[in-house]
Amino acid sequence: MKEDLLYLKEEALHEIEKSKDLRELNNIRIKYLGKKGKLTTILRGMANLSPEERPAIGKLANEVKEELEQKFFQKGLELKEIAKKIRLQKEKIDVTVPSKVILGHKHPLTLVLDEIKEIFLGLGYEVVEGPEVELDYYNFEALNIPKDHPARDMQDTFYITEEILLRTHTSPVQIRTMEKKKPPIKVIVPGRVYRSDEVDATHSPVFHQVEGLVVGEKVTMADLKGTLITFAKMFYGKERRVRFRPSYFPFTEPSAEMDISCIACDGKGCRVCSYTGWLEILGCGMVHPNVLKNCGYDPEEVTGFAFGMGIERIAMLKYGINDMRLFFENDLRFLEQF
Ligand SMILES: [Zn+2]
Repeated sequence: MKEDLLYLKEEALHEIEKSKDLRELNNIRIKYLGKKGKLTTILRGMANLSPEERPAIGKLANEVKEELEQKFFQKGLELKEIAKKIRLQKEKIDVTVPSKVILGHKHPLTLVLDEIKEIFLGLGYEVVEGPEVELDYYNFEALNIPKDHPARDMQDTFYITEEILLRTHTSPVQIRTMEKKKPPIKVIVPGRVYRSDEVDATHSPVFHQVEGLVVGEKVTMADLKGTLITFAKMFYGKERRVRFRPSYFPFTEPSAEMDISCIACDGKGCRVCSYTGWLEILGCGMVHPNVLKNCGYDPEEVTGFAFGMGIERIAMLKYGINDMRLFFENDLRFLEQF
């Protein structure tokens, strides 16, 4: 019986070593150590042994069993590792291969921004961007908003230090662009901006703007109006009527706000337009001479105009969305509609 056990051990070890996958290994295990396996069959013969012989054979049988268990365990780990490698090899994806299938779709804010960009690119503008963490100088000072200026109260600012803040508008990029380039300048500046507002249907501490700046010789208010009327008609449709109302911004003079006839009621008056027939869509104006001077330009030689709009607001008007929070909640039932 001793020889039988030792033979069984060698035979099993040999088969374990040769096994190629976990299923095969498991079959070998059943063959040798299973309830009806070879070891059990041999141990049945113990009944025929003398009481003196039994303990030694019992001990050997246990040793053989233990050694085989150990070997099964080790081989199992080895085979798992190999299987994992093969799987990873199979699942390897070349991320540089261009996809033919477009998964998902664009966020409504991206759709609106893409459309705005396309219109202005067509009018010869360039897209530029700037930092979201900004210096007080670029966000306020250089834009003709000194430390004690009341306009600072209009914008609740997230300050990081006394001199560093999260930009409250995309306008600091006007300054950065003028510092870097010489006129003529024709840029639009999309980007994220921050204000310490409470979240509600029309406010969010993070939102998006797109800013425009044109600087050159003999740029006039007529250029501003022509450009923005063209934009409004291209974006909202030829039938929209457009009007400008005087307004105030520290960095433009004169300043104006542009309205379009209400999309919902076509100017008759409804809840969307608060029964005025008009919707405000952007702020604009002629670049203030102080701003030009701050960038080292001579306001006698060059002039410019600037405009800015909130992308959320534009998207809300375009798609008839009444709550800004929908843009940020990532609810698929909302996003799938675009
Ligand atoms: Zn209306």
